[in-house]
Amino acid sequence: MRIAVLKERAPGESRVAITPETVKKFAALGATVAVEEGAGITASIPDEAYREAGAEVVPVPKAVEGADIVLAVQAPDVMVLAGAKPGAWVAATFDPFREKDRVEAYAKGGFEALSMEFMPRITRAQSMDVLSSQSNLAGYKAVLTAANEYGRAFPMMMTAAGTVQAAKVFVMGVGVAGLQAIATAKRLGAQVSATDVRSATKEQIQSLGAKPIFVENVEGIEGEGSGGYATEMSEEYQKAQAELVSSHIAKQDIVITTALIPGRPAPKLISDAQIATMKQGSVIFDLAVAQGGNVEGSQPDEVVEKHGAKIVGYSNTAGHLAADASALFARNLYNFLSAFWDKDQGKPVLDEEIGDAVRLTQGGKVVNERLV
Ligand code: NAD
Repeated sequence: MRIAVLKERAPGESRVAITPETVKKFAALGATVAVEEGAGITASIPDEAYREAGAEVVPVPKAVEGADIVLAVQAPDVMVLAGAKPGAWVAATFDPFREKDRVEAYAKGGFEALSMEFMPRITRAQSMDVLSSQSNLAGYKAVLTAANEYGRAFPMMMTAAGTVQAAKVFVMGVGVAGLQAIATAKRLGAQVSATDVRSATKEQIQSLGAKPIFVENVEGIEGEGSGGYATEMSEEYQKAQAELVSSHIAKQDIVITTALIPGRPAPKLISDAQIATMKQGSVIFDLAVAQGGNVEGSQPDEVVEKHGAKIVGYSNTAGHLAADASALFARNLYNFLSAFWDKDQGKPVLDEEIGDAVRLTQGGKVVNERLV
């Protein structure tokens, strides 16, 4: 069983899908690991560290030659995979709803694409879930970046020269990223409030010591769809939410938006008119900017100034913490493959529940029911 890991080719991608720690763990299962030269540099992992862990460190195309499994953070162009075994698995993020051509190309190339974004939200798959591990870091980084752009302090400070008021932080969307954003803003000493369409998050917000801001008394209020994800809300709900947010947002210093709906563009939560009501010097971090954005006018990797507020958003927020993001991503991949490792066959054999959920292509066809 040969596992290959290539240097990421997507612009701005700083993470890597394997670490010396997981090289050793795969070797202990009996696999050989080939890593492309320089693959870990942007995540602070030199080639030497991979060699010491037991990996071959070689250039492409040698790295991919004869590979049974290719691991990546973002699925590479199929052309890079020339030389891998026919039917080789590629475990990576595929952005499957938007990158349909790439999925087709994997089918035509005869590869088995395993999309880590489609990992089911079940207890035994938690340790394999890259969306959770990366969102958690992204929520943390969003708050630090907003704090950095903010011209005032986060905690209340009583000094001889007078009192500095605590910053007011509002988190919109309380999934994995939002919960970490609340916790990080609290640790920095801010006054934190938060909202979500899923009423189950109310208790989670309170347990972190933040104030829940929720739409009440509107039909269709329960925004929880399948697998713990949010659903699109009714018009009535959206109107009530916009009114509630308008009155709250005008009093905030920092807003962190994280709202996503799988397979749909990110919901628009903050309009230009609402930004205009915010205080001068306020900062909005739009964690959904790469999925179309929650904030009107947000641009990936740019600081946009509007009505005296700054709107910030990275296209790859977890990539700004490349070393930790890579360590967790690599462990997610190892936890996934090792959970299915068949000792007799010396390779992983996926079960139906997880295999059918993550498999996009097989036998030359797109086979995932969410895509066909
Ligand atoms: P996500 O990234 O899909 O969305 C972020 C948040 O935005 C969600 O909380 C969602 O409800 C919210 N949202 C969507 N539309 C909104 C709107 N119009 N206004 C306000 N908020 C809106 O979510 P996520 O971080 O992946 O997590 C969703 C849930 O799934 C969480 O409860 C999480 O704990 C759970 N989860 C479970 C597992 C597992 O069991 N293996 C893994 C990951 C997440």
